[in-house]
Amino acid sequence: MICTKCRDAGTRSIVRVLGTKQTQIAKDVFFDEDGNEHCHNPNIVTTQFRCSNGHRFEERSSWQCSCGWMALKAVVTFIGEGAEA
Ligand SMILES: [Zn+2]
Ligand SMILES: [Zn+2]
Repeated sequence: MICTKCRDAGTRSIVRVLGTKQTQIAKDVFFDEDGNEHCHNPNIVTTQFRCSNGHRFEERSSWQCSCGWMALKAVVTFIGEGAEA
């Protein structure tokens, strides 16, 4: 994980994980007609980060099945600047 604000500004920073939370939806595990196992996990994981220059952002992502299925492609959202979480 790289802070894109710092990258865009041409500076470097350390990125700390502040916390992770995820939704609690039952996942769908099944075997298809060819016997391949699928795990379709609809849960979204939200991880909050803060870089050493004070940029705060969160990433929302989900697991990907071997077939490519995933509930959500990873998105990063900036949630502010400053020292407090
Ligand atoms: Zn930054
Ligand atoms: Zn699958």
